[in-house]
Amino acid sequence: MAVAARERPLLVAGDWVETGEWQEVRSPYSGELVGRIAKAGADLARRAVDAADQAMREPLPAHRRAEILDRVAHLLAEREDEVAETICAEAGKPMKAARIEAQRAVSTYTVSAAVARTLAGEMIPMDASAAGAGKLGFTMRLPIGIVGAISPFNFPLNLVAHKIAPALAAGCAVVLKPASQTPMSALLLAELEHEAGLPAGWLNVLVGKASEIGDVLVEDERVRMITFTGSSGVGWDLRARAAQKKVTLELGNSTPVLVEADADVEDAAARLAQHAFSFAGQSCISVQRILVHEDVYDAFRDRLAEVAAALEPQPVISGESLDRMLASLDETRAAGATVVVGGSRLERPGWHLAATVVEGVAPDAPISRTELFGPVTALYPAFGLDEAIALVNDSPYGLTAAIHTASIHRALHFAERVQAGVVVVNAGTHGSEPHMGFGGVKDSGTGWREAGIESLDVYSDLKVVNLVVDPAKA
Ligand code: NAP
Repeated sequence: MAVAARERPLLVAGDWVETGEWQEVRSPYSGELVGRIAKAGADLARRAVDAADQAMREPLPAHRRAEILDRVAHLLAEREDEVAETICAEAGKPMKAARIEAQRAVSTYTVSAAVARTLAGEMIPMDASAAGAGKLGFTMRLPIGIVGAISPFNFPLNLVAHKIAPALAAGCAVVLKPASQTPMSALLLAELEHEAGLPAGWLNVLVGKASEIGDVLVEDERVRMITFTGSSGVGWDLRARAAQKKVTLELGNSTPVLVEADADVEDAAARLAQHAFSFAGQSCISVQRILVHEDVYDAFRDRLAEVAAALEPQPVISGESLDRMLASLDETRAAGATVVVGGSRLERPGWHLAATVVEGVAPDAPISRTELFGPVTALYPAFGLDEAIALVNDSPYGLTAAIHTASIHRALHFAERVQAGVVVVNAGTHGSEPHMGFGGVKDSGTGWREAGIESLDVYSDLKVVNLVVDPAKA
């Protein structure tokens, strides 16, 4: 979808700032230039933190925050065409997927507005201990402070919304660094925040050298929290360096799915193909490992290969990503695996890898244990349920996992024992709704739930007030 290549400045302290340096954004579909974005360095990052600090000195009351969030939801819906076209242009998503992302962002804002309106502490039953008799206790929920938000390329609008909307709902000012490959949706969202009446300094958006901006967010004591979504290596390093801040991490996965002998093979193949190959597998919940009961293995493999071969390929984000995926496939083949379908670059503009299914991969091969983040899925024969669960859990990651089975007992057995933040039954691997928290365990994250109603806990601090009502008892 054509979006005229525009020069876009950055938002700092309520001003649209040009820096004299630009970085290019290119379409993954065609390689064409779709935008030139002002490039920030450490100095502008410090100015952004100053602006956020200044903004938070005059707190925005909850009703204003909620009104602004509602207005942004409204503007996002009103300008869905432009928003979806921007996502398409920079991320190479099909229009349908881009529209779904835009609509999800509307819901993210709507839920956050509701959260802002209902943000409350709790009464503490002080007389539950003898020492508390005669006292009144309650918690106040206060904004945690300035939030440094760092987001990935794959959902350039909604994963930014996931951070900004709940942080603002909780009363925090934000310094956002979106992915360099897809910064335009974030800047458009910032424009809508501005238009919705968000005062200067509450949202600042920086695009530029990640390590420079990241270092400012890590080192500046006024930034009380870093919320990061992206790859595990970068995330854990940030957390190690920001020991005195709250750091929430939403990281990668090598999403496992178990297809049981009693599953509807046709349905499972169709759904899992969609979740393995849409957006070229560039999602943290993309199906990467499918364990299939030996009784239905051949039937499932053949059907999945058929569906995969018929798919319209979608581009991966960059030439480097494509080269990394091809190298990983070469390594997998060299280790004795067989490519069932796909496996090669497609000769067309942009960066396309055919939807790929491999089998004969060892459970400890790199493709089984690391996140590929591309349109590649590996099949493994499975036998008993517990053995399959052990294989699923034999992974550094734990974000989402799914099972296809007709048995509620087997589904619950799986859900209870599998190491994951989200378990899905008889569907793809998505399993998240806008009002639900989403997050993983192990190498997939810190276990915090950033979106939905749980986001309250993430972006606020609790302060306990202990009030002596009866001085005689205090
Ligand atoms: P990435 O390379 O780790 O980048 C993510 C963000 O971190 C980008 O904004 C990037 O900036 C920034 N960054 C890189 N190095 C940094 C540093 N030293 N200091 C501070 N920031 C730094 O990840 P990606 O390729 O964009 O996204 C794919 C990854 O995200 C996958 O692993 C995927 O599973 C994960 N993901 C997880 C979830 C979830 O909810 N768990 C959701 C979506 C994606 P630049 O772009 O400027 O390099």
